[in-house]
Amino acid sequence: MPDRYYSSEPIIGSSITLGGSEAHHLLHVMRAQPGLELIVFDGRGGEYAAHVSACQRSTVEVELGEHRAVERELPFELTLAVALPKGDRQRWLVEKCTELGVTKIIPLQLARSASKGEKKEKLSRYIIEASKQCGRNQLMEINEPKTWTQLLDEISEGQRILAHPSGQPLAASEHGNAKSEPVCIAIGPEGGFTDEEVSQASEVGWDVVGLGERILRIETAAVALATAIALD
Ligand code: SAM
Repeated sequence: MPDRYYSSEPIIGSSITLGGSEAHHLLHVMRAQPGLELIVFDGRGGEYAAHVSACQRSTVEVELGEHRAVERELPFELTLAVALPKGDRQRWLVEKCTELGVTKIIPLQLARSASKGEKKEKLSRYIIEASKQCGRNQLMEINEPKTWTQLLDEISEGQRILAHPSGQPLAASEHGNAKSEPVCIAIGPEGGFTDEEVSQASEVGWDVVGLGERILRIETAAVALATAIALD
C-alpha cells in the first residue's frame, strides 16, 4: 500500500502542493521522483489515490486521482477526558488513542492536576503522524482544557465512565447496552480524583469504574479503558 500523506489545506480540485514536514519527508527520506504513488488525506473524511507530479526545493506537487470515501472510525463517539501527563508519556497517550479510534480528547484541569495546559500544535502533530500510520482519515479532536465542573455540565448524555481505584468492575457497569450511544471516559491526574470530584460525577450519573488491583499510570489507565470500550 502506498504511504499516506496529510494535507493541512482542505483538498479541492485535481492537484495540491505539499510543504513543510510532509514535503521534507518525501524529498529527503523517500527521495521522491515524479510518478511515486501515494495516498493523501486532509483529515476531513475520505482519502485520495495520488502521485507525485513534480518536486521542488521544499515543496512537492501532487496530482490527485479518485476520491475514496473510506473511514476507519468507531461506530460510536468515544471521548477521553484526561489530566494529560507530560513529555513522552503524553505523546504515547495521544498516539495510542488515535490508533484506538478515540474521537476527541478533552484535557482536564482538576484539583490535583500538575500541568497547567498543553501546546495544541504539538498534540496535533502527534495525531497527524498516528493517523498517517493507522489509516484514519478523520483527525481525533483536541478540545480546549476544561475544569471538572465544565466537563460535567458539558457531557450530560450517553455513557459516562470515571476511572477510580475504588470503582466497580467495568463489566458491572451498563457499558455495552447501546452500541451507538456516545461514551465519555475520564482519567484523573497522578494524585487521583478528589473524593469531591468523584461524588460530583456520581451524583449526575457517571459510573465509577475500577481497572484492577494495581494503580496504573494516567496513560496506561486511559489506553486500557479506551481499549476495553473500543474493542468490546
Ligand atoms: N493515588 C491515585 C488514586 O488513588 O487515585 C492514583 C492516580 S493514577 C496514577 C491516575 C489515574 O488513573 C486515576 O485518577 C484513575 O483515573 C486512573 N487509574 C489508575 N489506576 C486505576 C485503577 N486501578 N482503577 C481505576 N482507575 C485507575
